[in-house]
Amino acid sequence: MKLTGKNYIADTISSEGKTTFKGINPSDASELPTTFYEATIEEVNQAAIKAHEAFAIYGKKSGKEKALFLDTIADEILNLGDTLIERCSAETGLPVGRMISERARTMGQLQLFATVLREGSWVDARIDTAQPDRQPLPKQDIRYIQKPLGAVGVFGSSNFPLAFSVAGGDSASALASGCPIVVKGHPSHPGTSELVAMAITKAAEKTNMPKGVFSMVHGASVEVGMAIVMHPHIKAIGFTGSTRGGMAIFNAANTREEPIPVYSEMGSTNPVFILPEALKERSEVIAKELTNSVTLGAGQFCTNPGLVFLNKDENVADFQKQTIKHFEAVDAAAMLNKGIKSAFDSGVEHLIKNNESVTLIAKGKTNPEGFKGSAHLFETTAKSFIENHFLEEENFGPSTINIIADSKEELLAAAKKMKGHLTATLFGTENDLKNNTDLIEILEQKVGRLIVNDYPTGVEVCHSMVHGGPFPATSNSRSTSVGTAAIYRFTRPICYQNFPESLLPDELKTDNPLGIMRLVDGEYKR
Ligand code: NAP
Repeated sequence: MKLTGKNYIADTISSEGKTTFKGINPSDASELPTTFYEATIEEVNQAAIKAHEAFAIYGKKSGKEKALFLDTIADEILNLGDTLIERCSAETGLPVGRMISERARTMGQLQLFATVLREGSWVDARIDTAQPDRQPLPKQDIRYIQKPLGAVGVFGSSNFPLAFSVAGGDSASALASGCPIVVKGHPSHPGTSELVAMAITKAAEKTNMPKGVFSMVHGASVEVGMAIVMHPHIKAIGFTGSTRGGMAIFNAANTREEPIPVYSEMGSTNPVFILPEALKERSEVIAKELTNSVTLGAGQFCTNPGLVFLNKDENVADFQKQTIKHFEAVDAAAMLNKGIKSAFDSGVEHLIKNNESVTLIAKGKTNPEGFKGSAHLFETTAKSFIENHFLEEENFGPSTINIIADSKEELLAAAKKMKGHLTATLFGTENDLKNNTDLIEILEQKVGRLIVNDYPTGVEVCHSMVHGGPFPATSNSRSTSVGTAAIYRFTRPICYQNFPESLLPDELKTDNPLGIMRLVDGEYKR
């Protein structure tokens, strides 16, 4: 389990490049052991070619075979033991407890997809049987199924070094669908990426998967990632990260001779609405819990509540007082890397400079060691929010803006003006919610997940989860990157007309040998 710093190109470990970099501990800015070799364009080329070759075999593996592969990846991740947890914590500054729970989530995600594959109905099989005697024209036998797209490029983000990284949600859903993957390791946690790459490679060997089903390349410059995006053998991209990176990749993919689907899951500011009766009844609790939600993990969550809307009334001042008290007590916490810390500081500076539009009302404790960020609480009016577009932009870190509306009309106007986000949250009594169905209707158009009386941080991995939303939260609002529905990002429908029984996939054979749920002549049955 010794780190090599090299690239995993199918079954070969290689380091052809001259450019190297190291992992950095953000708690004290110290360099971590092991030098990592950035992949060359030729190494990326080899990874894509091998993934393409592997697709011819892997794309035809049965649900049971792929399920065993995913379960074995989960087992091998666990077998990395404390080595993984310690390296991951050192590279991210995130506490060991968080890493242990993120590992469980990552394994659970792989295992959940395995159950979906074993059950088999996810392929959405539809059968319309022939009606040769139909008048005025006979009806043909037509059968529909979802099939994998081909090799997928995966980009993980720095803030989820396990759950949105080498064996994260994008990888799990692509592998579940039958697509080999070429992963670009995030330069913020290269040792973690290599350890997980070892686990996947071992699982692929153990379960007899084709060489090339998995590759992982390191890179601290955009060229490596772009080489994956532009490679003709890559047929889709799963990206989790910044708006800047996600849009650069989306735009580049659209300039290819063959444009491909790019699922860029990007930043979001996740508006929260505290409705009048809830504010009156639970102001203290909400102030405390919301502060925790904003500052958890140094605020480095894509679901971080960065906008908090309130109707102006006699309870707002007390809520503000409570929130200020909690924000001022928050310790500075390590941010993931130097770039993220300096982007956060610039974002905060930008808000502070624009004090005619927004006011800093509380700052948490400071600590100059490593890349530690302090909590910031701002306040503005709904009128100013409507006029100043920059107030809606993500400032990735422990910061939020309380936005006070003079009237319900102004609150609705602010909601209408918003762009797409991952989530929106309402705190309200039953009465509050009944009185705000107009607000709920507006928010349904803006987000992928609507939450009542809970916090947006914390995304359950399950069948019904939608972690997505309209642009700019994602580049494709018609999908989710978390939960089992994520599998459909990497498939396409194909139908077979008048096919002989022997040539049909098992899922579409008339006697249903796999016993899956299918839509047969308009009726769901097994
Ligand atoms: P990032 O800087 O965009 O990096 C993500 C990956 O993309 C890295 O491997 C990075 O490699 C690569 N990359 C970035 N720009 C690129 C470009 N122009 N060309 C090619 N590759 C490029 O994101 P991050 O800082 O790690 O993550 C933080 C952000 O992710 C936050 O905005 C957060 O909200 C968002 N996030 C979103 C979700 C979601 O589900 N929506 C989940 C978690 C995090 P290099 O560094 O080598 O360029």
